[in-house]
Amino acid sequence: MSNALRDADIRYVLHPYTNLAAHEEKGPMIAVRGEGVKVFDTAGKEYIEGMAGLWCASLGFSEPRLREAALRQMDALPFFHQFGHKSHAPGIELAERLIGMAPDGLTKVFFANSGSEANDTVVKIVRYMNNILGRPQKKKIIARERAYHGVTVAAASLTGLPVNHRAFDLPIEGVVRTGCPHHYRYARPGESEDAFATRLADELEAQILAEGPETVAAFIAEPVQGAGGVIIPPATYFDKIQAVLKKYDILMVADEVICGFGRTGNAWGSQTYNIRPDILTCAKALSSAYLPISAVLVSDAVYQAVKKGSAEIGSFGHGYTYSAHPVAAAVALETLKIYEERDLFAHTRAVSPTFVTHLMRYADHPLVGNARGIGLVGALELVADKATKESFPPAAAVAARLVELAQEEGLILRSLAGDIVSFCPPLIITDAELDEMFTRFDRAMERLT
Ligand code: PLP
Repeated sequence: MSNALRDADIRYVLHPYTNLAAHEEKGPMIAVRGEGVKVFDTAGKEYIEGMAGLWCASLGFSEPRLREAALRQMDALPFFHQFGHKSHAPGIELAERLIGMAPDGLTKVFFANSGSEANDTVVKIVRYMNNILGRPQKKKIIARERAYHGVTVAAASLTGLPVNHRAFDLPIEGVVRTGCPHHYRYARPGESEDAFATRLADELEAQILAEGPETVAAFIAEPVQGAGGVIIPPATYFDKIQAVLKKYDILMVADEVICGFGRTGNAWGSQTYNIRPDILTCAKALSSAYLPISAVLVSDAVYQAVKKGSAEIGSFGHGYTYSAHPVAAAVALETLKIYEERDLFAHTRAVSPTFVTHLMRYADHPLVGNARGIGLVGALELVADKATKESFPPAAAVAARLVELAQEEGLILRSLAGDIVSFCPPLIITDAELDEMFTRFDRAMERLT
């Protein structure tokens, strides 16, 4: 059975985000079942899912209430939509609940199906509102090096990783790239975190002035950069950046696709870093990944500008067939109720010290240049030379090798560009499970060295 499946996978599946040539040799690990923070493959081997899937399955892999919420909605009304003047209860209740928990000032919710679609929607809303407001030149969006905002044409353009641009003829026009707040890699010798943050804000201001502030519409940022390497910004970074944005009437867009719903120990990464977004995107843990759904939350000022378009244009010409899919919305609503009832963000704060302490055990390891973590997201950055921070040659693929060894030891992790190994377990993980996770990781690390 599993050999037939493996062969069929290699034969028929064009794998997302995969080295396709290598896949034909390696073949897939095929998961068949989930239980709590664990998944099991076709051979019955057990893995701790140290990445919550793709930074998303925050309630783990067997939450019965989400299954029941989906079944209830399937039975009642498996599909309806919100186009025109139609709606349905799960879509309405989810929007109300999101606004109830959102950072101050966000008042309306647009639903989509993925983080990429949510960020694509941001690009379109930013263009639309500025055209409607009679300032069609104010369209550029500033995004950061090593940002990850998704892979659709506009979202991939905001993404700041070469693999998402090369050979795709991206980015599109109108994206301005600014610095990444990774102190370990990009600070000057002796530069404090605060001085580094000041420099990045100064560089941002210089870029805005060079572009012409009247041409810059928005700045988009993940509170903690995820796929770019789990990059935790200096504590004062966002305050300094937002002061610049405010000066030039530039919208702050928080991409909370990973950070949203407790990942950094608060409901939002925006809370953790004092971000006051005009627009916020979220996905992934919104439904604990049990069904695809994402959301764009906008301020009243943004909403009023978009609404103004109706007088001129008629319908707001943007929306997906599955915007607020009722079954996905019902599952998301149940997810948010569970977060609240179980006080899961407080749980994240409670187990975070165990998680971060385990990561920090590696800070002195000869292959680890930098260990970092906040809430339940973290990374180890591997280096060839600890003193000079020199990286391994890409062909060495040391992080990828370590992740393979971890998988053999029953732990799923992810390697990111720059020889970074990332950790992002389900938020339901316990102290004992974290200990077990790092015991497995210890074994992988021992085999690497
Ligand atoms: N934004 C962030 C911060 C992400 O981490 C991701 C996915 O990892 C996306 C956007 C894109 O989301 P999706 O893969 O659902 O399109």
